[in-house]
Amino acid sequence: SKESGKNTYYIYSPSMNIQTYKTFNLEMGLRHALELNQFEFYYQPKVCAHTFQIIGAEALIRWNHPDWGLVSPGDFIPLAEETGLITEIERWVKFTACAQNKAWQRAGLPAIPISINLSAIRFMENNLADNIIKALEETKLDPKYLDVEITETSVLENEKAVISTLDKLKNIGVRVSLDDFGTGYSSLSYLKRFKGRIDTLKIDRSFIKDLNREDADNSNFITKTIIELAQHLQMKVVAEGVETQEQLQILQSYNCEMIQGYYFSKPVPADKFAQLLQKGKFE
Ligand code: C2E
Ligand code: CA
Ligand code: CA
Ligand code: CA
Repeated sequence: SKESGKNTYYIYSPSMNIQTYKTFNLEMGLRHALELNQFEFYYQPKVCAHTFQIIGAEALIRWNHPDWGLVSPGDFIPLAEETGLITEIERWVKFTACAQNKAWQRAGLPAIPISINLSAIRFMENNLADNIIKALEETKLDPKYLDVEITETSVLENEKAVISTLDKLKNIGVRVSLDDFGTGYSSLSYLKRFKGRIDTLKIDRSFIKDLNREDADNSNFITKTIIELAQHLQMKVVAEGVETQEQLQILQSYNCEMIQGYYFSKPVPADKFAQLLQKGKFE
């Protein structure tokens, strides 16, 4: 039959709409992307707010498609999550980030932690920690040089399971950062329970974007409060999406420790990042 329901089309249906076709194409491509070696990391430095030294990096996935060019994660991670392909992709993510970091250390570059992003949906899976252990063993990377970024929303959902996963990660010795902080309706009491389990808070770009001397919409106040809260809980803070000198200066005055954003560098390919790391700091 051509149609099984009102809005259900099969792939050979002549009435298939463009969007369905695109999604289908995307999914087919995604299934082969790993074996065709089409994924690539771009690395963005995390910079000390005071010395401008590079003290970390975030590995951000790109899909290097032969026809479409560089596809950004926002355009394929959701589909990867829906189809379950994310599990395979994240195996690649864990292994590649560890292997690259180890290779840079072996080449004599400064040793820094590199962060990977893990999907909220899969975060509580049992084999998450196992896969991380495997990647660390295979690459011989010291666990303290791997940082796992998880989003605030993934942590809010099932606290008990999340805490047990976080404790496993702590046991292994990898670091954990809470990404997009401030967007997930978290309360102070909830954050308290993650004390000692989360090493770093990343203040979401939506607050940083609105930082300015006039502080018309309280973004300054909120940012300052998040920084003080993190310090109180002995967590480090990264400001994400810093683009201007004015934002940087405001963050320095609040004693924010780490800066990530276009002001210093966009995410860059591995060879370019190695050059930045070799220099060690920004002017
Ligand atoms: P995110 O983890 O919040 O990453 C930060 C995003 O902001 C990156 O976009 C980065 O390029 C961008 N960005 C950094 N500095 C600035 C700035 O100063 N201004 C502006 N306007 N943007 C800035 P990107 O690389 O497109 O990644 C988007 C999202 O995709 C990430 O958000 C993350 O949630 C997800 N993602 C990336 N890599 C992976 C991965 O390996 N696995 C999973 N599950 N998700 C990933
Ligand atoms: Ca992130
Ligand atoms: Ca983020
Ligand atoms: Ca964000």
